[in-house]
Amino acid sequence: MPATPAPEVIHRPDERFDEFLLAAAATHPDHPAVVEYTDGAERVTTFRGLRETAERYAGQLDRFGLEIGERVMIVSDTSAEAVALVLACASRGLPFVPVSPETPAERRATIERLAEPALCLAADGEPETAVGHGRFGGGAIEVPRPPSRRARSRRAVTPTDTAYIIFTSGTTGRPKGVVMSHRAVVAFYRGMMAEGFVSVGDRVASTSPLQFDFSLLDIGMALGSGAAVAPVPRALLRWPTRFLKVLSVTRATHVNGVPSIWRQSLRHIPGRLADLPDLRGVLFCGEEFPLAELRHLQRLRPGIRLINCYGATESMAASFAEVPDPLPADVTHLSIGNGHRGTDILLLDAEGSPVEEEGVVGEMYLRSPALMTGYWGDADATDAALVADPLEPRSGQRLLRTGDLAFRGADGGLRFCGRRDSQVQIRGNRVEPAEVQRRLSAHSAVCEAAVVVSEGLDGEAELCAFVVLTDGAADTAESDLRAFCLRAMPAYMAPGVVRIVDSLPVNQHGKTDHRRLLAELLTDA
Ligand code: ADP
Repeated sequence: MPATPAPEVIHRPDERFDEFLLAAAATHPDHPAVVEYTDGAERVTTFRGLRETAERYAGQLDRFGLEIGERVMIVSDTSAEAVALVLACASRGLPFVPVSPETPAERRATIERLAEPALCLAADGEPETAVGHGRFGGGAIEVPRPPSRRARSRRAVTPTDTAYIIFTSGTTGRPKGVVMSHRAVVAFYRGMMAEGFVSVGDRVASTSPLQFDFSLLDIGMALGSGAAVAPVPRALLRWPTRFLKVLSVTRATHVNGVPSIWRQSLRHIPGRLADLPDLRGVLFCGEEFPLAELRHLQRLRPGIRLINCYGATESMAASFAEVPDPLPADVTHLSIGNGHRGTDILLLDAEGSPVEEEGVVGEMYLRSPALMTGYWGDADATDAALVADPLEPRSGQRLLRTGDLAFRGADGGLRFCGRRDSQVQIRGNRVEPAEVQRRLSAHSAVCEAAVVVSEGLDGEAELCAFVVLTDGAADTAESDLRAFCLRAMPAYMAPGVVRIVDSLPVNQHGKTDHRRLLAELLTDA
């Protein structure tokens, strides 16, 4: 008798976002998947529990008869319930649009207007009365007035379908919706997994808001490895004692976040930081880690694995590079590596030719299966970011033009050195504010620095530096800092204005808020 042919495998069974993240529910059902901190104790949701809640939510979503591709806006912080809901949306081909509860109402309204969700679900608060607004929690979705049913023309969710849309501020201040497919996110997760950061039994503290794709990186790193994600409550993050308590109670083995999450603990309670017995790894992303702070962290935690993760929402991230332990004293730029496994970062000059020589600055282009599909409703911006392969335009392949500048170090690894769009002409010379910022940060009295460009009295562009001094360096004068710059750089690169401040403002994602610094300058003028 002829053997029954095996069913045709069209996609790998874990090519969908939710399938990939819940794979450990089959192999390690009783392991923690989400570890939450509530009232000084941990609350554990296992992989089995997470899958069950996700299935319950998916069943509830089915009641609305939504078409594949219809958006579900989720207003929530990261929690076991929120993770279950995003998994449920993904399983039904409904792109989720995460928005933080702390997002100002006006911006939330803009995102809602742009994304046109069929449903908007909030973790808490009274549901609004408009059609499709509701609440989720405890595995139940309550929608006072469900969305109207539409005709369905799609039959199956494919890996090219949209998993989520994340609205980033971009440089213009206008929210841009980064559309990511299931295939792209899973490709990214696989590339990250190949780095072997965490494994079964680990706990990854997640400090980024759900609307910042870094939180999805954390969730993917943890669940994809059979480890648990431990969301740090946003309200506790800015209090160093409470932040470290959350890490201690949830027994975090790894902490992911922007560099600023460490600032207060390094400054005020370094001893407590040295005393977290479970902590083995720190992954940072989003901006450069000020080297003085990074060295301080290394001194407190020798042997800890520090990972510099570089990338943008358009590909979730692009590279991971281990920080040498200890960081040699002469290092001025951290390596960002050369792209995670399965990706390639190309360095091109202004004419589009590859930059081969060490130390020469070019712009980074990313070739990767983890690229965004495009910007939601913005074909022009998509075409500007996803460009024809400069090496072989005939192939039809598109690369991500990152807008980020870098040079190659002696070890072959790339060094980030600023953004193309922040370069300015000062008296006819091209200046990259990040270089000036780096020089200021190298001063022994400087703890943090940020440089912005404003218009000087003569109408010309002018560099303005904001500087936070280290404890005990209060007698450092602004003129000392300018003189320090002048010792290493031409006069046009030295900031015209230097302001000593107590702290630098950070945006909702915890990155230095350059826009606010600029606004401060303008209001003071
Ligand atoms: P936004 O543009 O709104 O800040 P992203 O979070 O996507 O949104 O920001 C990505 C940008 O952040 C990158 O293009 C790069 O300029 C910067 N960046 C990200 N990671 C790093 C890093 N490890 N080192 C230096 N800069 C980084």
